[in-house]
Amino acid sequence: MDFNDSPAEAEFRQQVQSWLQDNVASVLGADSHQDAAAFTANARLWQRKKAQAGYAAIRWPRAEGGLDGTPMQEVIFQEEESRYAVPTGPLVTIGTQMTIPTLRTHGTAEQIERFTRPTLNGDLLWCQLFSEPSAGSDLANLRTRAVKDGDDWVINGQKVWTSWAHVADWGILLARTDSEATKHKGLTFFLVDMRSPGVDVRPIENISGESEFNEVFLTDLRIPDSYRLGAVGEGWKCAMTTLMNERVNVGGESQALPSVVELLEQIGKNGSQVTQDRFKLASLLTKELGLRYFRFRLMTSLSKGETPGPIAAMSKLVYANVLQELSAIALDNLGLEGMTEQQPGSPMARFTYGYQWAAALRIAGGTDEILRNQIAERVLGMPGEIRVDKNIPFSQCR
Ligand SMILES: Cc1cc2nc3c(=O)[nH]c(=O)nc-3n(C[C@H](O)[C@H](O)[C@H](O)COP(=O)(O)OP(=O)(O)OC[C@H]3O[C@@H](n4cnc5c(N)ncnc54)[C@H](O)[C@@H]3O)c2cc1C
Repeated sequence: MDFNDSPAEAEFRQQVQSWLQDNVASVLGADSHQDAAAFTANARLWQRKKAQAGYAAIRWPRAEGGLDGTPMQEVIFQEEESRYAVPTGPLVTIGTQMTIPTLRTHGTAEQIERFTRPTLNGDLLWCQLFSEPSAGSDLANLRTRAVKDGDDWVINGQKVWTSWAHVADWGILLARTDSEATKHKGLTFFLVDMRSPGVDVRPIENISGESEFNEVFLTDLRIPDSYRLGAVGEGWKCAMTTLMNERVNVGGESQALPSVVELLEQIGKNGSQVTQDRFKLASLLTKELGLRYFRFRLMTSLSKGETPGPIAAMSKLVYANVLQELSAIALDNLGLEGMTEQQPGSPMARFTYGYQWAAALRIAGGTDEILRNQIAERVLGMPGEIRVDKNIPFSQCR
């Protein structure tokens, strides 16, 4: 029971808890880095189980595989699910939380029919082919080209930092179709079968020796026009839908945030006392609660069919920073325990993982600086950055 739950929500929470207890055991155990194949298989299986139970799309109508549920029920499910080290994360959510909303907003009826259910069921895993060596924060600077040839588009270029491209079935791709238009106008959005000839995925090895993301080289890749999403030249609009949903989703990971209260409990169990950082902890607790209630608002606006807009950036910005600061305090205060091997899913494992992941999270899906710029300009109405390449053809941009 959570102190915020109404009686109906408390009942739903109990249902979820017992469903999780009955179902998680079969998918736990495979490490995403040590055995990517087993992890991927478990991720598909976990997604399928959730879809069968209606938990994969709680707010959707039952006829479409949902539960006709409320935003609050979705939050409750995420909170309870996050207590287990289940195989999920970007490998699954790029499809379920980013691609599906983009398809449902911009896709044709055939595209929605073709991809939604298999993605919800875990049969299709997706990757996001947006970033390039010269296009990260300035995504519209991308240079991968798509040229029309009969009923196909022919794609040439290079993507980078593509998470899970080595196991993904399909990708969402942003490419330039018109270099004479201004840089945001000449882009088009495509769906790519990652097993097509012309797709060459090369893993990037991290400093830790793990390979979670990749370079993807696209050479004379042919994509049928039926896999174009939205109109030619309207790719930026589609990509904004994807990125907005990415930020809401990453902020949603905050359900998995190891909390200040959890940290204090853990410290208590160790017989130690927090001797420092008291004010910081109080401030983090405030942000943690603010984030939780802000997230309820975002979920409510999504459930009304609204697009949360640039304010959603706050969710990821605050989450990544709280995660980094809190995990650092945890590791400092818990001493040796923070450095030794931990039980997956245990509070300590979550703090250790949080500490390692937060640095990457502050970059992925839009860096802190870019999100702050967006909030300043588009939420607070402050003067925009000087952009000299805004109104000239892309071919003239340097
Ligand atoms: C873990 C992880 C997973 C990722 N997965 C994917 C994926 O699956 N698919 C994908 O397409 N991409 C992915 N990315 C890439 C990610 O989107 C980019 O790294 C991010 O957008 C930043 O781009 P960049 O790395 O090119 O940095 P740059 O854009 O070169 O930025 C470098 C620095 O300059 C700052 N900066 C840049 N412009 C401004 C400005 N106007 N004002 C103030 N500061 C500025 C940035 O904040 C940053 O600190 C992933 C990244 C990470 C870390």
